[in-house]
Amino acid sequence: MKLLFQCPVCLNYSLEEPAYLNGVGSDEICYICGFQFGLDDYPDKDEGIVLWRTNWEKMGSPTVRYLSSEEKTRYYKVQQAQ
Ligand SMILES: [Zn+2]
Repeated sequence: MKLLFQCPVCLNYSLEEPAYLNGVGSDEICYICGFQFGLDDYPDKDEGIVLWRTNWEKMGSPTVRYLSSEEKTRYYKVQQAQ
């Protein structure tokens, strides 16, 4: 899986396709923040993105919940090393 495109919600490079092409959502779901482009941004794209990002940030570190066990181990090692 190649992830090259930046998610406009969580700002991670977590998308396989651009979130929007000519203003149309890709239907892809960001695996980090869970936002689906073309669905969760309805009816107002800009408002939806800001709202989702605010909620996402309030949830603390939800990123961890979406990581594989191998990635989690790496994440916690980084956390413990700090
Ligand atoms: Zn995202």
